[in-house]
Amino acid sequence: MTPYNPPLADMQFALEHVVDLAALAALPGCAGADPETVAAVLDEAAKLARDVLAPINRSGDEEGSRVENGIVRTPKGFKEAYRTYVDGGWNSLPFEEEYGGQGLPIVVALAVAEMWNSANMAWALCPLLTVGAIEALLRHGTQELQETYLSKLVSGEWTGTMNLTEPQAGSDVGALRTKAVKQGDHYLITGQKIFITYGEHDMAENLIHLVLARLPGTPAGTRGISLFLVPKFLVKEDGSLGDRNDVRCTSLEHKLGIHGSPTAVLAYGDNGGAVGYLIGEENKGMECMFTMMNNARLNVGLQGVAISERAYQQARDYARTRVQGRTLTGAKSETPLPILYHPDVKRMLLAIKSRTEAARALAYFTAGQIDRARHLESEADRAKAQLLVDLLIPLVKAWSTDLGVENSSLAVQIHGGMGFIEETGVAQHFRDARILPIYEGTNGIQAMDLLGRKLMRDQGAAAAVFVATMRELDAALAEQSGDDLAVVRRSLADGIDAVEQATRLLVGSFGTDPARAAAGSVAYLNLFATVAGGWLLGKQALAAQTQLARGAGDIGFNEAKLTTARFFAEQFLTPAAAQLSAIGGGATIVAFDPDQF
Ligand SMILES: Cc1cc2nc3c(=O)[nH]c(=O)nc-3n(C[C@H](O)[C@H](O)[C@H](O)COP(=O)(O)OP(=O)(O)OC[C@H]3O[C@@H](n4cnc5c(N)ncnc54)[C@H](O)[C@@H]3O)c2cc1C
Repeated sequence: MTPYNPPLADMQFALEHVVDLAALAALPGCAGADPETVAAVLDEAAKLARDVLAPINRSGDEEGSRVENGIVRTPKGFKEAYRTYVDGGWNSLPFEEEYGGQGLPIVVALAVAEMWNSANMAWALCPLLTVGAIEALLRHGTQELQETYLSKLVSGEWTGTMNLTEPQAGSDVGALRTKAVKQGDHYLITGQKIFITYGEHDMAENLIHLVLARLPGTPAGTRGISLFLVPKFLVKEDGSLGDRNDVRCTSLEHKLGIHGSPTAVLAYGDNGGAVGYLIGEENKGMECMFTMMNNARLNVGLQGVAISERAYQQARDYARTRVQGRTLTGAKSETPLPILYHPDVKRMLLAIKSRTEAARALAYFTAGQIDRARHLESEADRAKAQLLVDLLIPLVKAWSTDLGVENSSLAVQIHGGMGFIEETGVAQHFRDARILPIYEGTNGIQAMDLLGRKLMRDQGAAAAVFVATMRELDAALAEQSGDDLAVVRRSLADGIDAVEQATRLLVGSFGTDPARAAAGSVAYLNLFATVAGGWLLGKQALAAQTQLARGAGDIGFNEAKLTTARFFAEQFLTPAAAQLSAIGGGATIVAFDPDQF
């Protein structure tokens, strides 16, 4: 398997030209984000990712996590790597100093997390879920809960989980049956949760489960759900660990990929009820869980970027060494060539590279807006940034993860038959990527979230603001010479027009024919995200061309960026604009009688 080399140049370029890190660092509370400090943080993280996490990715896949008598053992090296991660203070990067955090912007933590996920996605899921639990506690937990749990979660000594799913309650979270009964200052939880990532493991001394459950006599559906904190070990007043709580792992799932990550079935309350503490208000659990889910959705989107990058590196390195066929151009040569020189292999590599860079840019841009929503000085500006975040999160989650699957599939293709054989390692990336469009809300559910919640709550107003922002790039592109930017400009203008038209179409039809609008929602999400990704690649291409004109920066990197942006525009942006017919054509889908399948 190819070693993983973090793509620091592209990450830094995105932080500079997509996020405008320097401007972010100037905001109150973001002083630690000056570009030099961030570069040093990324360099150090790169070492841990490359030298510690990546080498145990393959063995983790082969060995998998195992359960015996309720005790889960993660693959060899996972526990030690986690210790190194905690000791290095990596878990605490973006959190408040009050709880031992380092106060760096979310976008910096996101860039760092990209490397953990590229290096070893199965391992990286553990901290991913802890971060979500911290966010939910910070926003909705009582002071007592925060004082008891936050500093240990922030340091990473304890890890968090997210417990929504039950056998009959998957996408339909409102169907959950786990019960909570009030008893004095706490609640007793009984029920079964399935598919709980890192629901039991041996990497930390305590696990903090965030569990959705239903109080007696509450309304059906999501309105009757509350959120509880359920520790694996109860915590005594002095902060030390007490008795084992009444929650145990009854089995682990056997999966297509992410074998290193334990996916647990958890039984709550076999011996009378697990002690849980209410987070937020009774029956307002979904609101609190959404804090955690939004965070997790961004991070799962990032996993799509991360697996694409890993698959790209593997495919590129294979294509450099695999010799087959001869050149089509120039003088006929008898010397066989590495497949990297064949136009179709170049096409596949460019497809992976350009979509990875576009998806990275979109994820970083969104994270930068989260930071702005927290730190901009005026309340109105913060609210505007938050609206953008709400709009973009489903795009990042769904688009980047679909791309993770497509990109890793292309990486298998580049390997030919050896891609289908486990030995090369590329098949693992494809298998690992397949969960991404499913968990944390399937991508179909993301598209419905975009349409039903994000568009309809303001009749497309936030989308219109974003469209206007994207249009601002046109003037700067028009001033530039050269074919590459001209192609990008034209495709982008068509794409933005298509997003505008599609938004109007769906907002107009949702009220009268929601099923028809829903049938076009995935195509709409893909169009919107492709255009947003193309816009950010266009911004980067502009920066690259400006640097080339000034003789600044790395010439090879800047030239590649221009080509990549142009390729993306030609191959993905222009066809995406033609998706309007799919978006408007929902009636065909709705009219089809399910009994005819
Ligand atoms: C490896 C793994 C790890 C996981 N980790 C966790 C975890 O840590 N915590 C946790 O709580 N859960 C976890 N899950 C559960 C995961 O979030 C669910 O599997 C996912 O939300 C989908 O639910 P489901 O599997 O019941 O599919 P279903 O809800 O049965 O969906 C099946 C299909 O129907 C579609 N569908 C369903 N309803 C609708 C609708 N209303 N509109 C349009 N399409 C619809 C879906 O998009 C999907 O294509 C994990 C799952 C796996 C496999």
